[in-house]
Amino acid sequence: MRTQVGIVGAGPAGLLLSHILHLQGIDSVIIEAKSRSYIEERIRAGVLEHGTADLLCEIGCGQRMRAQGLVHGGIELQFSARRQRIDFQELTGGKSVVVYAQHEVLKDLIQARLDTGGQIFFEADQVSIHDFESASPHPRIRFRKDEIDHELTCDFIAGCDGFHGVCRPSIPASALQVFERVYPFGWLGILAQAPPSSHELIYSNHDRGFALLSMRSPTISRLYIQCDPEDDIAAWSDDQIWSELHARLEGIDGWKLIEGPVLQKGITGMRSFVVEPMQYGKLFLAGDSAHIVPPTGAKGLNLAAADVRLLARAFAAYYKSGRTHLLDQYSETCLRRVWKVQRFSWWMTSMLHRFEDDTPFDRRRQLAELDYVTSSRAGAQSLAENYVGLPFD
Ligand SMILES: Cc1cc2nc3c(=O)[nH]c(=O)nc-3n(C[C@H](O)[C@H](O)[C@H](O)COP(=O)(O)OP(=O)(O)OC[C@H]3O[C@@H](n4cnc5c(N)ncnc54)[C@H](O)[C@@H]3O)c2cc1C
Repeated sequence: MRTQVGIVGAGPAGLLLSHILHLQGIDSVIIEAKSRSYIEERIRAGVLEHGTADLLCEIGCGQRMRAQGLVHGGIELQFSARRQRIDFQELTGGKSVVVYAQHEVLKDLIQARLDTGGQIFFEADQVSIHDFESASPHPRIRFRKDEIDHELTCDFIAGCDGFHGVCRPSIPASALQVFERVYPFGWLGILAQAPPSSHELIYSNHDRGFALLSMRSPTISRLYIQCDPEDDIAAWSDDQIWSELHARLEGIDGWKLIEGPVLQKGITGMRSFVVEPMQYGKLFLAGDSAHIVPPTGAKGLNLAAADVRLLARAFAAYYKSGRTHLLDQYSETCLRRVWKVQRFSWWMTSMLHRFEDDTPFDRRRQLAELDYVTSSRAGAQSLAENYVGLPFD
């Protein structure tokens, strides 16, 4: 098999890249380890920056999102028994975010690829990448599908295979620099069959630990509590989880959290991670394969979209004019945004969570920071500008 860009991974990064390349007349093939149904049901992110939502519309994949997504013009911050709204629209000149589940985005992108003749190999085993050094004329992706070995020859490989994929570890370790912070807590998340108890997300800094009220649709709530990352989810009963959520989110003007049957629950560790550079020879990393952010800033999916937007532009310039300047600058250009998003996600995480080794001084400073952000226009505007998404260019 032969294609121009071989893509490993059918997450947001791989699917978006493939579809944008198609619209530029560039051929690609996606190799994905999981099944289509697994990907279309995997619950993950749910907040789209205004630029990510616009991008989906620009490439013709925004119809269901526009019909079903919930447009949010702000978030609520809760601390010291009060709740204050950060008004994105007023602070950013009318910008907002869209709450639309990641797996719904993936359904739209997969359908768009298949409708336009795109090739996705789901359930591929033993995926490996070869000959992607600069001097090599033809990088190759090998995989096994339905008991048959395949080899895909391409001009370039896009490593869109997430944090646990094969692409990043295939680069010689000596060529990469890793920057990492692992947080001493995780998020216990539930999906509940309950209408959201608030129109907008509520981020709560509570003495018992952080809590987040979010949603996926008008009938499904997504709720999180800070927990020990080593906790066994089976040891948390639904009653215990609801009781923590009530304790950490209620207490404001008689406001009540609406309960409902728990449809899914799990614990996710929290990590900040960046690898530099995001390219090696003819291999380009995008999305979680190159960086991870703690979910507090709702940035993982959005950062993946920002990477592939640049990567698609660089491939388009190469295939149009033969010039490699944008490909050569890919990592450097991406990393400017990556580090700003890392900073924001770390800052939100630090401001909202309880850290075990916090001194009373740290706690007072944390509450003062929330007070500043919610009472100063400059503080609120900085949060709003980052949350709705920094400009792409
Ligand atoms: C449990 C969980 C909850 C999250 N919640 C949030 C949230 O609330 N908010 C937020 O902003 N972000 C969240 N994120 C992060 C966000 O979902 C990711 O940042 C986003 O999915 C990144 O997209 P990606 O395409 O780079 O990687 P992924 O979505 O990870 O896609 C990578 C794809 O590559 C495939 N793959 C892996 N290895 C191979 C291989 N060897 N061969 C072929 N294919 C392979 C995988 O199956 C996957 O489909 C969450 C992540 C997780 C894991």
